[in-house]
Amino acid sequence: VTDAPQAPPPTSAPSATRAALRALTAALGPSKVATGDARLPWSRDDSPYPSPLPDAVVHAASEDDVQTTIRLANEYSIPVVPRAGGTGRTGAALPLYGGIILATDSLSGIEEISKEDLTAVVRPGVVLADLHAACTEMGLFYPPDPSSLGTCMLGGNVATNAGGPRAFLYGSTRSWLLGVDVITGGGERLVLGGKTRKRSSGYELSQLFAGSEGTLGVATRITLKLLPKPPETLTVAVWCRSDPGAAAVAAAILAARFSPASLEFLDERTVDVVRGGLAVPEGGRALLIAEFDGEGVEVIAERLGNLLTGLPDVCVVHAAVDPARREALWGVRRALSLATRRVTRHKISEDVVVPRGSAGALLDDVARIGETHRVRHLTYGHAGDGNLHVNFLWNDDDEKPRIDAALDALFRATLARGGSLSGEHGIGIAKVPWFAAEHSATSRALQTAHKAAWDPKGILNPGKWVGGDRNHRDC
Ligand SMILES: Cc1cc2nc3c(=O)[nH]c(=O)nc-3n(C[C@H](O)[C@H](O)[C@H](O)COP(=O)(O)OP(=O)(O)OC[C@H]3O[C@@H](n4cnc5c(N)ncnc54)[C@H](O)[C@@H]3O)c2cc1C
Repeated sequence: VTDAPQAPPPTSAPSATRAALRALTAALGPSKVATGDARLPWSRDDSPYPSPLPDAVVHAASEDDVQTTIRLANEYSIPVVPRAGGTGRTGAALPLYGGIILATDSLSGIEEISKEDLTAVVRPGVVLADLHAACTEMGLFYPPDPSSLGTCMLGGNVATNAGGPRAFLYGSTRSWLLGVDVITGGGERLVLGGKTRKRSSGYELSQLFAGSEGTLGVATRITLKLLPKPPETLTVAVWCRSDPGAAAVAAAILAARFSPASLEFLDERTVDVVRGGLAVPEGGRALLIAEFDGEGVEVIAERLGNLLTGLPDVCVVHAAVDPARREALWGVRRALSLATRRVTRHKISEDVVVPRGSAGALLDDVARIGETHRVRHLTYGHAGDGNLHVNFLWNDDDEKPRIDAALDALFRATLARGGSLSGEHGIGIAKVPWFAAEHSATSRALQTAHKAAWDPKGILNPGKWVGGDRNHRDC
């Protein structure tokens, strides 16, 4: 996939691995190095890709534990795969070459939330929902909100540049990252950025680290930017008569100069999947959910009401300010992943992104691809920023070649519309075969050079999109 010079993957010879595990156990203590059956859960994440077992799982509880692990891994040339909540969708945390899973869930704790600086300093194993709760208690706000917020962790969020519905107004995790302490793949301590909200001083390496998917270093401390909590939030669910109707309503909301924090879309096929467990109004076929932060949201509600009343594509509108009622309106969106799993044995959920004005055209592409390759599909996602979760569903293994062809067509259509393979999940192993179609040879060579500078022996997360020499079809 990449034509730039690459280091070969670490050898991971059985004798070297055994010696490394003995050295790790001696250095960290046996309670932090798990082998045997305790490794079983660590060859899976929330992606459909198979992976070998790791040789061991190191449960790091301090920065020293991380550094010791990386230094010994370099000494014995064995791979290290950093891991946080394991909710990744692309197989980025899977140990393709075995070696060590470096689990950071015990490297946890919110060290500080500062009202004065509007910052939070956290360890990578903090669960995102816990940070949200701590901020809310202090009248503060950390916007990124991937739907996995109850289980994903800040280390994984930074490493994937996670998004979520609110990315439309507020941006993804990278926009909120002020600084990060890292142990590089070479085993060096590196302190990047800090607590200032602005910085124009040299290359901003913390921003390069965001989205690096565990290929450059391991985050051990993360400094994030916060906002004062918006005084009120209005959530509006707009049931529309059709998919094109929903697209027209979304366009009308933005053309009328509303600034929603989120603008989410569920297509007709998605609504059909959740219909059983929901009160879908008569005539409601597709759904938009918009959310607005600020003061005086009743003024927004009234102005929006006037706009929506005049639109023929709108069927029924529900609005709520009360947190419990707002959560109920989001319930349908949050239930999607599980509801989809109930109607199919297998699914692939992609997160392609196109310039937002091309989202409607991409939906047409998806319909055409589904018909051409005879695959079942549904689409939902972040209509506001053109980031669509296109899902392909199948039951029988003999359908898989058609799914693969549809996937290929989807990525090529996305790139042809000036889009990207990933709006928020990252590349992992899932999109390695298409990486070169999005990134030029020069860009890939530069990325490989960065990787070599941070991780000279190539021990960190080998087999992924940078410095890898195989893709998931072979593993
Ligand atoms: C139901 C569901 C809904 C989801 N919704 C969204 C959504 O709305 N938006 C979105 O963006 N994503 C979403 N995701 C995907 C996933 O939750 C995100 O990618 C998340 O950021 C992964 O975090 P994690 O803690 O689970 O990381 P993991 O899966 O453990 O790891 C992900 C990557 O980060 C690396 N990594 C982990 N910790 C570190 C560290 N300390 N230092 C360096 N690298 C590290 C790993 O090596 C791997 O490459 C969803 C997933 C599920 C299951």
